[in-house]
Amino acid sequence: MSWESNVRKVVPYVPGEQPKINNIIKLNTNENPYSPSPKVYEAYKETDLDDFRKYPDPTCSVLVDSIADFYGVKKENVFVGVGSDDVLSMAFLTFFNSDNPILFPDITYSFYDVWADLYRIPYRQIPLNDDFTIEPLDYFGENGGVVIANPNAPTGVKLALEAIEDIIRANPDVVVIVDEAYVDFGAESALPLIDKYDNLLVVRTYSKSRSLAGLRIGYAFGCEKLIKYLLDAKFSFNSYTMNMPSLTLGAAAMDDREYFEKTTAKVIETREKFKVSLRELGFEFADSATNFVFARHPHKSGKEIFDYLRAHGIIVRRFDKPRISEYLRISIGTDEEMDKLVSVLKEIV
Ligand code: PMP
Repeated sequence: MSWESNVRKVVPYVPGEQPKINNIIKLNTNENPYSPSPKVYEAYKETDLDDFRKYPDPTCSVLVDSIADFYGVKKENVFVGVGSDDVLSMAFLTFFNSDNPILFPDITYSFYDVWADLYRIPYRQIPLNDDFTIEPLDYFGENGGVVIANPNAPTGVKLALEAIEDIIRANPDVVVIVDEAYVDFGAESALPLIDKYDNLLVVRTYSKSRSLAGLRIGYAFGCEKLIKYLLDAKFSFNSYTMNMPSLTLGAAAMDDREYFEKTTAKVIETREKFKVSLRELGFEFADSATNFVFARHPHKSGKEIFDYLRAHGIIVRRFDKPRISEYLRISIGTDEEMDKLVSVLKEIV
């Protein structure tokens, strides 16, 4: 027998490409096209590199306090991690420990099945409706937990808060994770429900609406007991997940409400304009409440459009998977970037 028979083998998640060249239009990983808040630049300049001799604060209090302040919750309701990927993976490890399968849609964030495989969590992928909407009733049966991205990715489709609440209410014996990576671009958050339901974890990120994908900061809200269990798992894994800059610069970004609201509104405005242009070009897409649009063209293959855009210096994302291989997920950039994209699309469709 070889040591390889004991390896925990997994098929890893494939992140979007981060090209090394600069003169491209990068619309493939849903980053924010606008710079981080000026408050982040100020905090960066005040950073004392000598502090890096020491370990960072394991309680992450500067960051946790600023998040709790912003959202009007107690610090005991907040958990932070290295991007929402870290928060989600810790939540899977902590809360999904049943012989019953956890449930999530067949088309959703493609890290969920990877974590489930990694942790040996049984799971069932529930088909979305043909229009990419979620059928809440599908999540009412016996299960080991539920994960819903709202709005969903890569579809961009949102689910009404009442439907989310129905799912949470129908599953009092398991944890329901609502992944709100894109919620700031147009869906209603489940955050107000954390006081009402002790089985709800709401997960957020700095990577999209806070323009800080590179710092890797994610956070979650839940009742005190839920957060305490998450912290116990995290402190059994790695005490110092958050490095010093992510704590101080993350707090500075959270403190700038005005900038956050301004840049988010701008992305939404650009998205709505872009939808009109896409429709004029004959693209089909479900209405997006995110900072991307998931679209296909009835007469051109997804691969053909993808390759043409790439050859013209524009990178979008395509998933070679059942039901969605003809679709392109196009992140919302600046107005100039989207105008350029539309002019290149005009050449091919
Ligand atoms: N959830 C969803 C639905 C996402 O699309 C992403 C971005 N890839 C994440 C979570 C993770 O984002 P991050 O780790 O950058 O916070």
